[in-house]
Amino acid sequence: MKSKKMVLVTAGSRGIGAAIVRVLSKHYNIVFTYRTNKEQAELLAKSLTNNNTFCVCYPCDVTKTSEVKSFCEMLLDKHGTPYALINNAGISVNNLQINMTIAEWQTVIETNLNATFYFNHYLLNPMIIDGDGCIINISSISGLRGNIGQTSYSASKAAQIGMTKSLAKEVAMFNVRVNSIAPGLVETEMTAELPKKVLDQLIKSTPLRKIGQPDDVAKMVEYLLGEGGNFITGQTMVIDGGLSI
Ligand code: NDP
Repeated sequence: MKSKKMVLVTAGSRGIGAAIVRVLSKHYNIVFTYRTNKEQAELLAKSLTNNNTFCVCYPCDVTKTSEVKSFCEMLLDKHGTPYALINNAGISVNNLQINMTIAEWQTVIETNLNATFYFNHYLLNPMIIDGDGCIINISSISGLRGNIGQTSYSASKAAQIGMTKSLAKEVAMFNVRVNSIAPGLVETEMTAELPKKVLDQLIKSTPLRKIGQPDDVAKMVEYLLGEGGNFITGQTMVIDGGLSI
Protein backbone atom coordinates (compact mmCIF):
# COMPACT_ATOMS: atom_id res chain seq x y z
CA MET A 1 0.00 0.00 0.00
CA LYS A 2 2.90 2.39 0.85
CA SER A 3 4.54 2.12 -2.57
CA LYS A 4 1.75 4.02 -4.37
CA LYS A 5 2.30 7.73 -4.93
CA MET A 6 0.32 10.03 -2.65
CA VAL A 7 -1.77 13.01 -3.75
CA LEU A 8 -3.02 15.85 -1.54
CA VAL A 9 -6.34 17.47 -2.50
CA THR A 10 -7.53 20.55 -0.61
CA ALA A 11 -11.28 20.69 0.09
CA GLY A 12 -11.93 17.16 -1.10
CA SER A 13 -15.17 16.39 0.69
CA ARG A 14 -17.63 17.74 -1.86
CA GLY A 15 -18.03 19.22 -5.33
CA ILE A 16 -15.09 19.18 -7.73
CA GLY A 17 -12.69 18.24 -4.91
CA ALA A 18 -14.65 15.07 -4.10
CA ALA A 19 -14.69 14.07 -7.79
CA ILE A 20 -10.90 14.54 -7.95
CA VAL A 21 -10.52 12.40 -4.83
CA ARG A 22 -12.73 9.64 -6.29
CA VAL A 23 -11.08 9.56 -9.72
CA LEU A 24 -7.50 9.73 -8.39
CA SER A 25 -8.11 7.12 -5.70
CA LYS A 26 -8.03 4.47 -8.48
CA HIS A 27 -4.30 5.14 -8.95
CA TYR A 28 -2.96 6.97 -5.91
CA ASN A 29 -3.07 7.08 -2.14
CA ILE A 30 -5.10 10.15 -1.24
CA VAL A 31 -4.96 12.65 1.59
CA PHE A 32 -7.63 15.33 1.43
CA THR A 33 -8.64 18.23 3.64
CA TYR A 34 -12.10 19.37 4.64
CA ARG A 35 -13.29 22.39 6.57
CA THR A 36 -16.80 21.42 7.73
CA ASN A 37 -18.89 18.24 7.64
CA LYS A 38 -16.42 15.81 9.17
CA GLU A 39 -18.90 12.94 8.90
CA GLN A 40 -19.31 13.33 5.11
CA ALA A 41 -15.53 13.61 4.65
CA GLU A 42 -14.78 10.53 6.73
CA LEU A 43 -17.46 8.48 4.96
CA LEU A 44 -15.93 9.36 1.59
CA ALA A 45 -12.41 8.51 2.78
CA LYS A 46 -13.56 5.20 4.21
CA SER A 47 -15.45 4.25 1.04
CA LEU A 48 -12.29 4.76 -1.05
CA THR A 49 -9.85 2.85 1.13
CA ASN A 50 -9.20 -0.66 -0.15
CA ASN A 51 -6.44 -3.24 -0.34
CA ASN A 52 -4.50 -1.25 -2.95
CA THR A 53 -4.79 2.40 -1.90
CA PHE A 54 -5.62 4.43 1.18
CA CYS A 55 -7.70 7.58 1.44
CA VAL A 56 -7.63 9.71 4.59
CA CYS A 57 -8.94 13.16 5.47
CA TYR A 58 -8.03 15.90 7.94
CA PRO A 59 -9.67 19.19 8.92
CA CYS A 60 -7.99 22.36 7.69
CA ASP A 61 -9.26 25.88 7.14
CA VAL A 62 -7.04 26.89 4.24
CA THR A 63 -7.19 30.59 5.11
CA LYS A 64 -5.51 30.02 8.47
CA THR A 65 -1.72 29.90 8.05
CA SER A 66 -1.21 28.18 11.41
CA GLU A 67 -3.65 25.37 10.44
CA VAL A 68 -2.06 24.95 7.01
CA LYS A 69 1.41 24.87 8.56
CA SER A 70 0.57 22.27 11.20
CA PHE A 71 -1.40 20.19 8.67
CA CYS A 72 1.55 20.19 6.22
CA GLU A 73 4.01 19.26 8.98
CA MET A 74 1.76 16.37 10.04
CA LEU A 75 1.35 15.30 6.38
CA LEU A 76 5.10 15.16 5.75
CA ASP A 77 5.73 13.38 9.02
CA LYS A 78 2.95 10.80 8.73
CA HIS A 79 2.43 10.29 5.01
CA GLY A 80 5.62 11.64 3.40
CA THR A 81 5.99 14.03 0.49
CA PRO A 82 3.03 14.20 -1.88
CA TYR A 83 3.62 13.42 -5.54
CA ALA A 84 0.94 15.98 -6.35
CA LEU A 85 -0.76 18.89 -4.65
CA ILE A 86 -4.19 19.89 -5.96
CA ASN A 87 -5.12 23.40 -4.76
CA ASN A 88 -8.88 23.10 -5.11
CA ALA A 89 -10.46 24.97 -2.15
CA GLY A 90 -12.32 28.00 -3.39
CA ILE A 91 -15.27 30.31 -2.86
CA SER A 92 -17.10 32.98 -4.78
CA VAL A 93 -18.86 35.90 -3.14
CA ASN A 94 -20.63 37.67 -5.96
CA ASN A 95 -21.21 41.39 -5.57
CA LEU A 96 -20.68 44.47 -7.70
CA GLN A 97 -17.40 46.09 -6.67
CA ILE A 98 -19.23 49.30 -5.82
CA ASN A 99 -21.16 47.39 -3.14
CA MET A 100 -18.46 44.90 -2.14
CA THR A 101 -17.27 45.04 1.45
CA ILE A 102 -13.59 44.80 2.32
CA ALA A 103 -14.35 41.60 4.25
CA GLU A 104 -15.98 40.05 1.14
CA TRP A 105 -12.94 40.98 -0.96
CA GLN A 106 -10.49 39.62 1.59
CA THR A 107 -12.24 36.27 2.14
CA VAL A 108 -12.20 35.47 -1.59
CA ILE A 109 -8.55 36.47 -2.04
CA GLU A 110 -7.53 34.58 1.11
CA THR A 111 -9.33 31.37 0.14
CA ASN A 112 -8.58 31.27 -3.59
CA LEU A 113 -5.18 32.92 -3.85
CA ASN A 114 -3.38 33.16 -0.50
CA ALA A 115 -4.18 29.55 0.44
CA THR A 116 -2.66 28.35 -2.85
CA PHE A 117 0.55 30.12 -1.85
CA TYR A 118 0.42 28.72 1.72
CA PHE A 119 0.24 25.08 0.58
CA ASN A 120 2.92 25.63 -2.07
CA HIS A 121 5.06 27.38 0.53
CA TYR A 122 5.04 24.46 2.96
CA LEU A 123 5.24 21.60 0.42
CA LEU A 124 7.34 22.85 -2.46
CA ASN A 125 10.72 22.21 -0.86
CA PRO A 126 10.15 18.49 -0.17
CA MET A 127 8.58 18.11 -3.63
CA ILE A 128 11.69 19.67 -5.20
CA ILE A 129 13.92 17.31 -3.21
CA ASP A 130 11.83 14.34 -4.41
CA GLY A 131 12.44 15.51 -7.99
CA ASP A 132 9.12 14.28 -9.36
CA GLY A 133 5.97 16.23 -8.63
CA CYS A 134 2.95 18.13 -9.85
CA ILE A 135 0.97 21.09 -8.59
CA ILE A 136 -2.45 21.77 -10.06
CA ASN A 137 -4.31 24.95 -9.24
CA ILE A 138 -8.05 24.82 -9.81
CA SER A 139 -8.62 28.27 -11.30
CA SER A 140 -11.61 29.31 -13.41
CA ILE A 141 -12.48 30.83 -16.77
CA SER A 142 -13.42 33.84 -14.62
CA GLY A 143 -9.66 34.30 -14.34
CA LEU A 144 -9.46 34.57 -18.13
CA ARG A 145 -12.43 36.85 -18.78
CA GLY A 146 -14.49 39.36 -16.84
CA ASN A 147 -17.80 38.61 -15.15
CA ILE A 148 -20.11 41.19 -13.61
CA GLY A 149 -20.17 40.75 -9.82
CA GLN A 150 -16.95 38.73 -9.79
CA THR A 151 -14.12 41.25 -9.50
CA SER A 152 -12.69 39.50 -6.43
CA TYR A 153 -13.23 36.00 -7.84
CA SER A 154 -11.76 36.93 -11.27
CA ALA A 155 -8.80 38.68 -9.65
CA SER A 156 -8.05 35.67 -7.43
CA LYS A 157 -8.39 33.16 -10.28
CA ALA A 158 -6.31 35.27 -12.73
CA ALA A 159 -3.64 35.59 -10.05
CA GLN A 160 -3.57 31.80 -9.62
CA ILE A 161 -2.87 31.51 -13.36
CA GLY A 162 -0.06 34.07 -13.15
CA MET A 163 1.39 32.26 -10.15
CA THR A 164 1.21 28.98 -12.07
CA LYS A 165 3.28 30.35 -14.96
CA SER A 166 6.03 31.90 -12.82
CA LEU A 167 6.24 28.95 -10.44
CA ALA A 168 6.35 26.51 -13.37
CA LYS A 169 9.50 28.29 -14.60
CA GLU A 170 11.04 28.32 -11.12
CA VAL A 171 10.68 24.59 -10.45
CA ALA A 172 10.84 22.99 -13.90
CA MET A 173 14.55 22.18 -13.44
CA PHE A 174 13.55 20.00 -10.45
CA ASN A 175 11.01 18.05 -12.53
CA VAL A 176 8.07 19.62 -10.71
CA ARG A 177 5.29 20.56 -13.14
CA VAL A 178 2.79 23.30 -12.29
CA ASN A 179 -0.47 23.75 -14.21
CA SER A 180 -3.87 25.36 -13.79
CA ILE A 181 -7.28 24.11 -14.77
CA ALA A 182 -9.90 26.69 -15.71
CA PRO A 183 -13.37 25.16 -15.56
CA GLY A 184 -16.44 26.90 -16.94
CA LEU A 185 -19.82 26.18 -15.42
CA VAL A 186 -19.72 22.97 -13.35
CA GLU A 187 -22.64 21.46 -11.45
CA THR A 188 -21.77 21.80 -7.73
CA GLU A 189 -23.14 23.60 -4.70
CA MET A 190 -21.25 26.70 -5.88
CA THR A 191 -23.32 26.97 -9.07
CA ALA A 192 -26.51 25.75 -7.35
CA GLU A 193 -26.48 29.15 -5.62
CA LEU A 194 -26.92 30.97 -8.95
CA PRO A 195 -30.43 32.20 -9.85
CA LYS A 196 -32.08 29.80 -12.35
CA LYS A 197 -32.32 32.58 -14.95
CA VAL A 198 -28.55 33.20 -14.79
CA LEU A 199 -27.78 29.48 -14.91
CA ASP A 200 -30.07 28.93 -17.94
CA GLN A 201 -28.46 31.89 -19.72
CA LEU A 202 -24.96 30.54 -19.05
CA ILE A 203 -25.91 27.10 -20.38
CA LYS A 204 -27.43 28.76 -23.47
CA SER A 205 -24.15 30.65 -24.00
CA THR A 206 -22.12 27.43 -23.72
CA PRO A 207 -21.57 26.01 -27.25
CA LEU A 208 -21.95 22.43 -25.97
CA ARG A 209 -25.28 23.55 -24.39
CA LYS A 210 -24.75 21.79 -21.09
CA ILE A 211 -23.29 22.25 -17.64
CA GLY A 212 -20.01 20.47 -16.89
CA GLN A 213 -19.76 17.70 -14.31
CA PRO A 214 -17.16 17.55 -11.51
CA ASP A 215 -15.75 14.41 -13.17
CA ASP A 216 -14.94 16.43 -16.32
CA VAL A 217 -12.47 18.42 -14.23
CA ALA A 218 -11.26 15.38 -12.26
CA LYS A 219 -10.38 13.53 -15.47
CA MET A 220 -8.15 16.42 -16.60
CA VAL A 221 -6.38 16.27 -13.24
CA GLU A 222 -5.92 12.51 -13.75
CA TYR A 223 -4.47 13.18 -17.23
CA LEU A 224 -2.05 15.86 -16.07
CA LEU A 225 -0.77 13.66 -13.24
CA GLY A 226 -0.31 10.67 -15.53
CA GLU A 227 2.06 10.00 -18.41
CA GLY A 228 0.07 12.28 -20.71
CA GLY A 229 1.12 15.25 -18.61
CA ASN A 230 4.86 14.52 -18.77
CA PHE A 231 5.74 17.47 -21.03
CA ILE A 232 3.09 19.94 -19.86
CA THR A 233 3.93 22.76 -17.47
CA GLY A 234 2.84 26.36 -16.88
CA GLN A 235 -0.38 25.79 -18.83
CA THR A 236 -4.04 26.51 -18.18
CA MET A 237 -6.33 23.74 -19.34
CA VAL A 238 -9.75 25.20 -20.14
CA ILE A 239 -12.70 22.86 -19.56
CA ASP A 240 -15.80 24.89 -20.28
CA GLY A 241 -17.86 23.39 -23.11
CA GLY A 242 -16.61 26.25 -25.27
CA LEU A 243 -18.04 29.05 -23.08
CA SER A 244 -14.88 31.14 -23.35
CA ILE A 245 -14.33 30.87 -27.13
P1 NDP B 1 -18.11 23.96 -3.79
O1 NDP B 1 -18.73 25.21 -3.27
O2 NDP B 1 -18.97 22.82 -4.13
O3 NDP B 1 -16.95 23.47 -2.80
C1 NDP B 1 -16.01 24.38 -2.31
C2 NDP B 1 -15.07 23.65 -1.41
O4 NDP B 1 -14.10 24.57 -0.90
C3 NDP B 1 -15.78 23.04 -0.21
O5 NDP B 1 -15.22 21.78 0.06
C4 NDP B 1 -15.47 24.03 0.90
O6 NDP B 1 -15.46 23.47 2.19
C5 NDP B 1 -14.06 24.44 0.52
N1 NDP B 1 -13.67 25.67 1.19
C6 NDP B 1 -14.18 26.90 1.05
N2 NDP B 1 -13.58 27.75 1.90
C7 NDP B 1 -12.65 27.03 2.59
C8 NDP B 1 -11.72 27.32 3.62
N3 NDP B 1 -11.58 28.56 4.13
N4 NDP B 1 -10.95 26.33 4.09
C9 NDP B 1 -11.06 25.07 3.60
N5 NDP B 1 -11.93 24.71 2.64
C10 NDP B 1 -12.72 25.70 2.14
O7 NDP B 1 -17.27 24.45 -5.04
P2 NDP B 1 -16.72 23.66 -6.31
O8 NDP B 1 -16.49 22.24 -6.00
O9 NDP B 1 -17.57 24.04 -7.45
O10 NDP B 1 -15.33 24.44 -6.48
C11 NDP B 1 -14.06 23.81 -6.33
C12 NDP B 1 -13.05 24.70 -7.02
O11 NDP B 1 -13.39 24.81 -8.40
C13 NDP B 1 -13.01 26.14 -6.48
O12 NDP B 1 -11.69 26.61 -6.45
C14 NDP B 1 -13.82 26.90 -7.51
O13 NDP B 1 -13.47 28.26 -7.54
C15 NDP B 1 -13.44 26.17 -8.78
N6 NDP B 1 -14.38 26.35 -9.88
C16 NDP B 1 -15.68 25.93 -9.79
C17 NDP B 1 -16.54 26.13 -10.85
C18 NDP B 1 -17.97 25.70 -10.84
O14 NDP B 1 -18.69 26.06 -11.77
N7 NDP B 1 -18.43 24.95 -9.86
C19 NDP B 1 -16.08 26.79 -12.08
C20 NDP B 1 -14.70 27.18 -12.06
C21 NDP B 1 -13.89 26.95 -11.00
P3 NDP B 1 -16.81 23.40 3.09
O15 NDP B 1 -17.50 22.15 2.67
O16 NDP B 1 -16.35 23.40 4.48
O17 NDP B 1 -17.60 24.64 2.77
